[in-house]
Parts: sequence; C-alpha cells; structure tokens
Amino acid sequence: MDRVRLLVFNAALGALDYRVPAGVSVPPGSIVIAPLGPRQILGIAWERERLPANDVPDTKLRPILDVLPVPPLAEPLRRLIEWTADYYCAHPASVARMALGSMAALRGGGTTTEYRLTGSEPARLTPQRAAALDALQGEQASIRELAHIAGVSEGVLRGMVGAGMLEAVTVDLDRPYRAPDPAHAQPVLNDDQQAAADAFVGAVESGGFAPFLLDGVTGSGKTECYFEAVAAALREDRQVLVLLPEIALTETFLRRFEARFGVPPVLWHSSLKSSERRRAWRGIVSGGAKVVVGARSALFLPYKALGLVVVDEAHEVSFKQDDGVRYNARDVAVIRARFEAVPVILASATPALESMQLAEAGVYTRIVLADRFGGATLPAINIVDLRSEQPPRGQWLAPRLVEEMRTRLERGEQSLLFLNRRGYAPLTLCRNCGFRFQCPNCSAWLVEHRLSRRLACHHCGHETQPPEACPECATPDCLVACGPGVERIADEVAAVLPGARVAIVTSDTLGSPDKIAAFVAEAEGGAIDVIVGTQLVTKGYHFPELTLVGVVDADMGLEGGDLRAGERTYQQIAQVAGRAGREAKPGEVLIQTRHPEAAVIAALAAGDRDAFYAAETEARRDAGAPPFGRWAAIIVSSEDEAEARDAARAIGGSAPRLADVMILGPAPAPLSLLRGRYRYRLLINARRSAQLQDVIREWLGALSFPPGVRVGIDIDPYSFV
Ligand code: ADP
Ligand code: ZN
Repeated sequence: MDRVRLLVFNAALGALDYRVPAGVSVPPGSIVIAPLGPRQILGIAWERERLPANDVPDTKLRPILDVLPVPPLAEPLRRLIEWTADYYCAHPASVARMALGSMAALRGGGTTTEYRLTGSEPARLTPQRAAALDALQGEQASIRELAHIAGVSEGVLRGMVGAGMLEAVTVDLDRPYRAPDPAHAQPVLNDDQQAAADAFVGAVESGGFAPFLLDGVTGSGKTECYFEAVAAALREDRQVLVLLPEIALTETFLRRFEARFGVPPVLWHSSLKSSERRRAWRGIVSGGAKVVVGARSALFLPYKALGLVVVDEAHEVSFKQDDGVRYNARDVAVIRARFEAVPVILASATPALESMQLAEAGVYTRIVLADRFGGATLPAINIVDLRSEQPPRGQWLAPRLVEEMRTRLERGEQSLLFLNRRGYAPLTLCRNCGFRFQCPNCSAWLVEHRLSRRLACHHCGHETQPPEACPECATPDCLVACGPGVERIADEVAAVLPGARVAIVTSDTLGSPDKIAAFVAEAEGGAIDVIVGTQLVTKGYHFPELTLVGVVDADMGLEGGDLRAGERTYQQIAQVAGRAGREAKPGEVLIQTRHPEAAVIAALAAGDRDAFYAAETEARRDAGAPPFGRWAAIIVSSEDEAEARDAARAIGGSAPRLADVMILGPAPAPLSLLRGRYRYRLLINARRSAQLQDVIREWLGALSFPPGVRVGIDIDPYSFV
C-alpha cells in the first residue's frame, strides 16, 4: 500500500501519514487535502525520511482526499523550507505556509467578480455613498475590499450596485502578464558599470550559485547594473526575484523598471488584493510572472524557473522579520540562490558588516562602483556641534542649518531634513503633576500626532484623543509636548522660513502607492521646498534639485546602545546624505550632533568609510558579536506577569553550561509589556564553533510551559527590545 507523509499547517501536529488511493500519484511537494477528524486540512507531501512522524500502522491510515491541480513544490524549495526551519528554530509548516498563496490560488482557474464605479451619480447622496464615491475613484476590487478601502459597510456598496453606481466586472484570474522586453531601452553604461554588468550577465548565462556584493556609492547606478542581469535572465527565459526592504520603495522602482523593460514587474506584498495575489501566485508557479518585486515574503514563493535573485538596499534591517518565523530575508535569499543554483546580487551603498566580511573572506564577489554616475560628486559633509551652535530655546534647528536652508529656498533648490521619529512629539506630560501618557498595553509612551489629533502607541496601534485636561490632576491646558517628531520640525520650518512649502514624509503620510506617486511628482516638479522625513525618505529617491540634507539628531540612534546602533546610524546618515546633489548641482550635508567625536560621526564627516568599518569590526570582534561570534535571544511572554517570570526563570534555571556558550538573563525585556503581554528575555552569546541551534532546541525541548506562555527564539537578532 502507498503511504504519503504530509507536512500539515499546524505546528502541534507536525507531520502525519496518510494512505494514497490506488491510481493516484503524490510526488513530494504535492499539495494535498486530507481528513483530520471531521475536518479537512491542507498538507504538503514530503520525503518520509526527512520528516519525523508517528508510525501509524497501515491499517489505521485514512486516505487523502484530493491532490490540488498545482505543480508540486520543487526540491530546492523544499530544502530551503527545511533549512530555514532548522536555522531559525521554527516549525517547517510555518515556513512552508509562506510558499503558498491563498486557498483560492491553489484551487485556481476560473473568474472572479470585481466592482467599479460606473460614473453615474444620483442627484442626492447619503453621506456614506458620497464618501464611497470619493474613495473608490479608479478602484476595482471585490465588495469586501472596496468596503475596506472606502471605510463603509458592504451593505452600503451593495445598495450602490442596486442603484447603478457600481458595476460588476468579470475578471479572468489567470490572465497572462505582459512580458518585459530585455531590449526595450538599453542604457549606455560607463566603464565601471559595464564591468559590473558583464560580471552579472556572465554569471546568469552560465548559471550556478554565484553570490555578489554590489557595493556602490549612492547615485552610482547600481539599479542600472543589476537591470542588465535581469535582462540576461529574461533572455534565458528565467524568472527574477527582486527583494526591496519596504513597499514604499516600489513606486520609484516600478517606474524605472517600466522605463527599462517596457512593462511593470509583478508585485508581491501583504496588501495585494486577493485577486491580484491569486494571479501573481499562479503566474509565479506557471513561469508567466517573469520579474517579481516584493517584500521579504516573496522569498519563499514557488518560482517555476528562477534564474536570478536581487536584494536591493541589502543592508536594511527591515529584511529581518521580528515575529512569526524570525528570519533574515537577505540571508535566506542567498541560501535560496544556493539551493536553486543561481546568482544572487546584494546591492547597497553601505553594506552590512556581515556582508563585507563574507566578501573579504572570498565567499561573495565584491563589485565596487566608487563614483556617482554622470560626473555628479558626493556631497560635502559637515558637522554642526549642538553644544556650541545651539538652536533657540524650544527649537531644534541650529542657526547655520536654517541659514543654509534659506539659501536653498532663495535659489529655488530643495532641502531635506531627516529625523527618524513619526508624529509631533514622542512624549506628552502634565506641567502640573508630571503625569505622562503611557500605552495601556505596552511599556511605551504615547506619541502625539498633531495632524491627525491623536495620541498613538507605535507598538500596538492603541490610540486616544488628546484630552483637554490632565487625566490625573484635572488641570486644564497643562499638557506639554516633549521632544521633536517630524511634524514639530515641519512647524519649526514654517516658522523660520515663512512661505516655504513643506512636505512631511512618513509612513503616516505616504501610506499608499497613490500618495507616494503624488509626493514624487510634487518633489520632482519643484512644488516642495523642504522635505521633513523619517527613514522612509533616506533611500531610493532621486530629486535633482535637492542640494541640502540636514540630519536633525544624529545621536538619537546611538542612544539605545544595541549591537548594531553604530552601524545603523552610519547607514542611515550615509543613505540620507546620498539624496543630496545627485545631478549637476553639488550637495551639502549638515549633521547636528552633541558627540562629534563618536567614531561613527567622525567617520561620516571625514568621508572615511573604511575607517568606520575597521573600527566597527574591531568593536564586534572584542564583543564576540557577529560576524565573529553569534547571538540568539529567547523571548518569553504571557498576559500574566508572574507566569512569564516563572517560565523565564525555569528556562534560566535549566540553562546548559558550555564552554563556548554564554547565557545572559533572564531579565525583563526593555519593552517589558507589549500588546498586553509581559516579556522577559534571555540573550545567548556563542562562539562560532558552538552548535547554537542544537543547544537551544535541546534546552527548550526538555521544558514544558503553561498554555498562556509563548517562547520565541530569535537567531541572529536585530531587535533587542
Ligand atoms: P544608486 O541605486 O546606485 O543610488 P541609481 O541606480 O539610482 O543609483 O542611479 C542614479 C541615477 O543615475 C538614476 O537617475 C539613474 O537613472 C541614472 N543613471 C545611472 N546610470 C546610468 C546610465 N548608465 N545611463 C543613464 N542614466 C544612468
Ligand atoms: Zn501599545
């Protein structure tokens, strides 16, 4: 009798064996429906020897019910799923889930119904219909999705269908994508770019695993270079995956891609409509989706014929996922390329220390673009020492920075102020009694957002309206904002440079592709004089008239003192500096700091990247930090404080004693309350020789916890809160 072992999407069950009915074939990787008790579950057929399960006798096996009409997950992807689960101490089912689109995509075929406005507009409208009419211009989606977009109930929209305001459209779910044309608009590359492109194209054409670190200064044309590798893959009829660190960057990318290849790439991210997701997934599986651009979740999709992987802005910390499977998409992208035997390009102007180290060790081929394209020069970087050049009381911009901005305004050029803090002020307190507004679910202050008139927690999303009086002492009009956020800096700009047109750029203001497109058009069209933004505006953008960058508070990122604080500060400032003077007009950067002597700041001011990497390398070596040693974190949480503490102590109490592993904690996490859960952390520092994951698995595997306790493992952590 034929048995099949299924990886099922329930971590507690793991793998289960089933009987294969006569005449049915279930090769490994097949996606299968099987019975479980009275229910039906989804599973992936797996090699039996690679996945442990209870050996149920043949006679007790139930038969599988259905094999879904999609190609089986290929062997390289199955190995990737296993590798990721093993390395990050996650369950393979949790990783495998990321390979599947939606149930609808698996079923495939057919059509779906979407709705759009007809243009007919009755003379009298209810306020809800009027709002929907406004919000749904240019949209086409299911009733449910439209209701979400418009913020009205589905009932309101059904009524609008009845009234002839919305019409149904039948959409073919599998309609093919137009193929990008590798010869559409080939640029003329300069010598350095050509050398880089030649190396990539050669690697794509010959196939095989080949990891590259494309290390090019901001504005050197890294994108143009890896586009040549994309073109080569297209000519070979292979697919390409391009990973971007955040959705906000896709807008600019799409336009450049379309200019180069004639059609947009296929997008993959969490806010796709269900029909788009389904179409993209099926295109990826069939090979019809040639170039897929996505956030990290695009990494595990079942590409039919992957020929190249690109990770742009590869140093970005947002490639690290901090919940669920805590993987680093940059690192897993390299592993995927290895299993698929294809080239992978990590592109960055400020590569992660880990990547530099691998290049130095000869594992990655490092390709350097040392100059900006087209004769543009890198900006001059100058320090504003806030100890001697103080801003006026209650303000944050030093006189010199304001003067430089004024000069730019008079010349019709743009300035960009960078402060990595959303909202108006990070803390609000009562002048009378000292009361501080804190999140009820998290150990964090509520951030004032003055534009939207709310106090918000940036961790859990909790929001309230700012009250008129102090909730504690009831004194009216006594609340004061402490510290700056981008909104407050924008107010200050408006006060010191009256008439300047100021744009605030954060995830609050640029939440959708439309808004991003509108911002880019305004900035390029000269309708903005001063941009005030968070890290969202530090990369990807190319505004020819932008000639001044001001870093409002260079010390902010250094304060937390976590493992990568120095590196992250260096990268952020170097990236945002890279927005200045990208064309003929030279750029200048002013960095406001109280610690001009700090290694990071000094290296930035001296334009000495090598000095920074050298200092950082030594510091990491001394601390046994990556890439010289390894870190892992265990995060214990529960809604019950005592339960979390006891579980953390039990883990600490049974810690293994090993020569090459050091265990710190348990201690309350810096964010000791998050989303209503109390949190404790243990930090593990190991030599490279240690079998870190095995140690942790064995250690935690021997313990059991009450159902309310969650124990998360974070290998190579980026977050230390
Ligand atoms: P990076 O990603 O390295 O910061 P980009 O790829 O954004 O640099 O290139 C900077 C600018 O120079 C872009 O506007 C790009 O279109 C332009 N550019 C770069 N290389 C070329 C080229 N060979 N021909 C024409 N334009 C180029
Ligand atoms: Zn909160």
